[in-house]
Amino acid sequence: MPIALYPGTFDPITFGHIDIAVRATKFFTRVIAVIAENPDKRHLFPANERFVMVKEAFRGVPKIEVIRYPGLIVDCLREHNASVLIRGLRALSDFDYEFQMAFTNRTMLAGAETVFLMPSAKYVYLNSTMVKEIARLGGDVGPFVPECVRKRLRKKFSAGLRR
Ligand code: ADP
Repeated sequence: MPIALYPGTFDPITFGHIDIAVRATKFFTRVIAVIAENPDKRHLFPANERFVMVKEAFRGVPKIEVIRYPGLIVDCLREHNASVLIRGLRALSDFDYEFQMAFTNRTMLAGAETVFLMPSAKYVYLNSTMVKEIARLGGDVGPFVPECVRKRLRKKFSAGLRR
């Protein structure tokens, strides 16, 4: 199988995201992590910082590339001559939203398929929002994110910035 895109906000990237991307490399020759740039969404990290952290997290991992994309994911699929989207499925709570996205993307681009992968059980309850909350309150996020992310979170919240 050829190329798959792995879209997300990655605000910030966690071991859960990494688990899914690496799993996907078993089935696809290239996996492209696509950092969504949605100016309407409130992010802790701007797109350039999210991009740098994702690049760093996948440095040295063969088959995984990282790009930023400001538009619709179906246009990104067209540009890369790809038809597969990778998404991670954790608990039932992810399902409704993911189902909606998968059908919407397929309506916009016939043949666009979404492949869902489940992470290692230890990451089933891990999400970026929780990581940000732990960091904001001064907790150790070491078990959840790579070192480059941990450092940036510490910097972000150390100046008394609690948002
Ligand atoms: P989005 O805002 O588009 O949902 P995210 O960056 O939150 O983007 O997530 C990107 C993808 O990674 C989604 O499919 C999400 O379900 C998946 N994901 C995030 N955290 C985990 C995790 N701990 N285990 C499995 N999949 C995950």
